[in-house]
Amino acid sequence: MITFYPGPSKIYPKVATYVREGLESGIISMNHRSSEFMALMDDTKKLLKHRLNIPEEYRIIFTSSATECWEILAQSLIKEKSLHFYNGAFGKKWMDYTSKLGLEVQDQQFDLEGLPQISNATVDLVCFTQNETSNGTQVPAQFISDFTSSENLIAMDATSSMAGIDLDFSKADIWFASVQKCFGLPSGMALMILSSKAVLRAYEIDERNHYNSLAFILDNEANNQTPYTPNILNIFLLNCLLKDLPKIDEVNKLTLSRYSRWVDFFSNTKRFGLLIKNDEVRSKTVLTVIYDSDLNELKQKAKQAGIVLGNGYGKWKETSFRIANFPAIAKGEIEELMEFLSSQDTK
Ligand SMILES: *Cc1c(COP(=O)(O)O)cnc(C)c1O
Repeated sequence: MITFYPGPSKIYPKVATYVREGLESGIISMNHRSSEFMALMDDTKKLLKHRLNIPEEYRIIFTSSATECWEILAQSLIKEKSLHFYNGAFGKKWMDYTSKLGLEVQDQQFDLEGLPQISNATVDLVCFTQNETSNGTQVPAQFISDFTSSENLIAMDATSSMAGIDLDFSKADIWFASVQKCFGLPSGMALMILSSKAVLRAYEIDERNHYNSLAFILDNEANNQTPYTPNILNIFLLNCLLKDLPKIDEVNKLTLSRYSRWVDFFSNTKRFGLLIKNDEVRSKTVLTVIYDSDLNELKQKAKQAGIVLGNGYGKWKETSFRIANFPAIAKGEIEELMEFLSSQDTK
């Protein structure tokens, strides 16, 4: 089966080899206070900084999911109020989780084809979903770059774009992603990247009531440790993968050239069309495709052809499907999907 699901998504084939290496070397049985684990964590953070172009002064922590990151931010970096720019299901969930923890949230929903409407509210944290996986939109780099003049801390959920496109980490204070999307690794781990300003704020607030309070995680991170037993296997897999992958500049080129191919492809189909028309805000890593005939039949036929399409999300569930444009997907697999879709493109 070839999967184009945008998470969990296709895992890099070499992960099988890494798992074997991890078992044979014994590293994944090591205690998480051991010098071996601390060296692994240190090396993995260095590799992340080098491969993804993360500024040297940023700190990197490991958590269990992007959802956990939402809660960590709400617990530890928001004293009273946060501002949420979103146009889809993940951005809304982030806001809802924050509100459920008793914080005041400002709802700043924006149009699918448009940019967030700048608001001057004074808040503790401004929240953006850099890549909205549910509908295939993105907040473009230029917008993020222009927005940074503000005094507020800025957080970016980049779960389905980090490791797929070249993000300018210096333009926001907090970035996070789980690894089952663009990283092409098994689910169960996420990473959060924090600027010095974010770290300073975490220690000013110094919230320490939870096992995953940010100040406590950062204390541990300073010694290459974690408060609780982390996903050592996944940290090891990430380490191996980063050693093999080219720098993000290269991966970014691949993602964008494949994206252009997909856009060209759908501009020449009769029954298929992209949900998002505005190229500037269209995601480069998740494509939402509208199909004007029997979607269930299409998915069935795809399955018979050995291809799993991503279901549409929420309001577009009945009329659309999603295609992950993640780097772990092979060129031949993309061609196979294109061939299949062409064969179904008849009026
Ligand atoms: C998948 C996804 C999440 C949730 O990730 P988990 O690892 O399941 O917590 C959050 N935000 C975005 C944008 C996502 O695509």
